Amino acid sequence: MTGRHGGGRRYGSGGGGKGRRPEPEPIRGVRDEARLSQELLKMDGASYGRYKTLKGDWDFGDFTLTVQRVQADPFAPPSRIRVYRPDAGIPESAWKDPIRRRATADHLGRRAHGLLRRSLLKIDTGGQEVIARSSIQVIEGGGMDLRIGLNLPGHGRRIDGRTAERELCGVLPDLIDDLDWDEIDRDQAIAFADSVVDTVALREQLTDRQLVAFVADGAILPRRSGISDEPMSKGAVPFTSPESLRVSLETPHRGTVSGMGVPEGITLVVGGGFHGKSTLLHALERGVYDHIPGDGRELVVTRDDAVKIRAEEGRGIERTDVSPFVRNLPTGADTGDFRSDNASGSTSQAANICEAVEAGSRALLVDEDSTATNLMIRDERMQELVHGDREPLVPFIGLVRPLYREHGVSTVLVMGGSGDYFDVADQVVMLDAYRPHDVTEQARSLARERPDAEFALPRARVVDPTSVDDTTGKGRGRIKRRDMDVLTFGDNDIDVRAVEQFVDPGQIIGAGLALRLLVRDRHLDGERTLREALDSLERALAEKGVTLMGDGFGGDYALPRRHEIGAVLNRLRALRVTELR
Ligand code: ADP
Ligand code: MG
Repeated sequence: MTGRHGGGRRYGSGGGGKGRRPEPEPIRGVRDEARLSQELLKMDGASYGRYKTLKGDWDFGDFTLTVQRVQADPFAPPSRIRVYRPDAGIPESAWKDPIRRRATADHLGRRAHGLLRRSLLKIDTGGQEVIARSSIQVIEGGGMDLRIGLNLPGHGRRIDGRTAERELCGVLPDLIDDLDWDEIDRDQAIAFADSVVDTVALREQLTDRQLVAFVADGAILPRRSGISDEPMSKGAVPFTSPESLRVSLETPHRGTVSGMGVPEGITLVVGGGFHGKSTLLHALERGVYDHIPGDGRELVVTRDDAVKIRAEEGRGIERTDVSPFVRNLPTGADTGDFRSDNASGSTSQAANICEAVEAGSRALLVDEDSTATNLMIRDERMQELVHGDREPLVPFIGLVRPLYREHGVSTVLVMGGSGDYFDVADQVVMLDAYRPHDVTEQARSLARERPDAEFALPRARVVDPTSVDDTTGKGRGRIKRRDMDVLTFGDNDIDVRAVEQFVDPGQIIGAGLALRLLVRDRHLDGERTLREALDSLERALAEKGVTLMGDGFGGDYALPRRHEIGAVLNRLRALRVTELR
């Protein structure tokens, strides 16, 4: 993949392309630290391609360094190094429990990232969320397994052996030493894991308490800016629950915490513009993930099957059953088996809801800021002007109750612009200068009777696995991303901008790898429904861990949720569905 960048063409030697020279043989004989040092110094000034002789394992005593991939030229993506250290002194308490293991790995990864700031070695690490990722694993027995990048240094097309020696035989062993349990600030590491354990414990209580989400008193929801996910530093109003919605939940390390429980059913969030509605909803969207201590949202949790819903004009739809929302299109198309290369705002939002429910979501998060109005409401005057038989859309307002009553799908909806949803809300929370108030009673006194429409569960789809293909065509084997916008999967560019619960660039790569895995390990076998395939993949990932996805992949990735994997699959324009059940 990297050779394509034309190292060979531009520099006339090494690199990829046709007529590639045979790869040099890996260095033979004793391969330990001293030998590596010696060889790197000896390579100084040699042609860049000689770096390939480093491939394979090097014995550093405490750990094994494996050179997995060597870049073709200094401008190609970094080379890949793996460090396997069977014993790093991590205590059993931290590696036995999978939550603690993930948290400890994450913490150590952040520490490593900081230590490598001025190095050519790069370790991928997370933002505000604690997400399993390829770059570092804590392993059974108290060891660690790192997958890192190294930009092998060169002077033009010549090897800079001294710098490479310093990085691999100086910086790297120092780093591994510094990550030893005896060397790190253990209290901090334990506190980090404790915090994540608490977050998970809160989330696990939601279902039993019949809650969709929980927002602790004192939580800091607003972020520093539109481009920073760090907490607002000055002037943030801490969250305080309205008395009537306040619940207390237990945590293993913080004891009892109180805050607002968002009950199952239909919760409406209202309030004037700029009073913090979207900020609250955004915190709920992110509440499916665990946050690092100091984030402000450590104790904000949402059920992990919650999916943000939005309109997404222009997306493709492949045989999705959108019939609850769309009937009698002017084209006569069958909306129980709906296909479009260019969906409208309303049909795209309808598809997003139906697909989320199909993939197993039982909680929808909706913000008026990003919805198609005509799918949300239709007022009386419009109904008078455009009669029912001329309007194919059934607005969400008539479906939101049957969705919950009949299928257990709750909705949290931000809606400041229309009071129509008073009619269907179970609770109404008003934000006033960032403080939530329970205004359910007042809203109810303004509510009117409203007939519900019917919501039949969308039919389940069976996917043709051969349509999910990254192994043929010009782009074969390619999994790349452009910012948080596009995932390239083989020859396909998948627009993921509207998949708002991707929070980490690594998750986008992870979703690409998950598509590959869905097919390769026959989770998608042409028989199972999409949902069953996601179940099966999810089980395999839970059992084998995140690195199951990246066998042989030369880059960093992080674990996406099943809902984002499904969302990516649904946006793959090559997708073919063979059957609706
Ligand atoms: P709305 O959706 O009600 O129009 P937003 O959630 O977009 O409002 O918030 C408007 C502004 O207020 C944003 O700049 C946001 O960062 C800020 N904000 C939100 N919540 C708080 C808070 N608790 N304390 C201080 N500022 C906040
Ligand atoms: Mg808003």
